[in-house]
Amino acid sequence: MMPLRRFTIHQPQSLTEACEMLAQHGENGRLYAGGTELLLAMKHNLLRYEHLVDVKVLPGLNQIEINDSHLVIGTTVTHRALEKSALVRERLPFFAEMESHVANVRVRATGTLGGNLCFAEPHSDPATLLLALGARVRVQGKTANRTIAMSDFLVGPYETCLAADEILTAVEIPLPDKTVRAAYLKFQIHERPTLGLGLVMETEDSGRAIKAARAVVGSVSLTPTRSDQADALLAGPKAQVEKQLRDAAEALADQADLVDDLEGGADYKRHLIGVFLKRAFHKALSAQ
Ligand SMILES: Cc1cc2nc3c(=O)[nH]c(=O)nc-3n(C[C@H](O)[C@H](O)[C@H](O)COP(=O)(O)OP(=O)(O)OC[C@H]3O[C@@H](n4cnc5c(N)ncnc54)[C@H](O)[C@@H]3O)c2cc1C
Repeated sequence: MMPLRRFTIHQPQSLTEACEMLAQHGENGRLYAGGTELLLAMKHNLLRYEHLVDVKVLPGLNQIEINDSHLVIGTTVTHRALEKSALVRERLPFFAEMESHVANVRVRATGTLGGNLCFAEPHSDPATLLLALGARVRVQGKTANRTIAMSDFLVGPYETCLAADEILTAVEIPLPDKTVRAAYLKFQIHERPTLGLGLVMETEDSGRAIKAARAVVGSVSLTPTRSDQADALLAGPKAQVEKQLRDAAEALADQADLVDDLEGGADYKRHLIGVFLKRAFHKALSAQ
């Protein structure tokens, strides 16, 4: 590993000042949260910045709260805090469970949800589940704020729609009502997941039918993927949907641009999607 090049850490007093610092330093500056991705990439000389703007010192960005019908998670909340949060465990137990399997405890204790999403690494567990949940992110820039759907936020591998002066401040997750059943499953052999699969279903008739569903598969391609065709096949009476699971998995695999890499070949990943969609379906419906 190469020695780190010199850089300066700036500690802004406010979000506005942080945005101004980012605008001022342009390509020489970058926001810095837990540093678990950024510092590693800088140590390997894959990324070079002379100025890092520390977002963790800003007050109010590490809160988890309920706001109207959403769970709102501040950008600097760590994976570990999400895994342990009584509020998240009560209102979105499958989200807390997903967080408990992100990386290892050292990375979870330092790495933030915002850092995970903004780095847009293709093997992100939270990005996959948040897409299935129809989440949005709040963003602040030097001159304006905006709210962006997760589906628009992730543009490509290691790429989001954030402008250079913009900071992700929070993630908003719609709180599901009692008819919603959800599950997130992952399969992993190396350091990052080989596959992550999130499934969210609105049920009726005490779970005997699925009114609407959204399945998202991540890590098997460069960005998490969903498919209208798969989601349509996942709706209907439970017995009928069970028979359509294989077709739904095929539709999802067709939509994902499956990549051959060190995690496995595209055919293998197609097979995994079939296995894990079926498991997620049964796990979600058996959850209370
Ligand atoms: C060994 C290892 C294993 C891992 N395994 C998994 C895994 O199984 N599943 C998984 O999902 N992830 C995994 N990860 C990724 C991990 O979740 C991320 O490293 C972590 O969440 C990043 O957060 P951070 O606060 O450290 O980000 P940083 O490294 O501080 O920042 C990452 C990037 O995001 C930008 N950024 C940070 N915060 C903001 C913000 N608020 N607004 C705008 N830009 C921002 C930074 O400028 C930087 O470009 C793993 C990482 C490691 C090192």
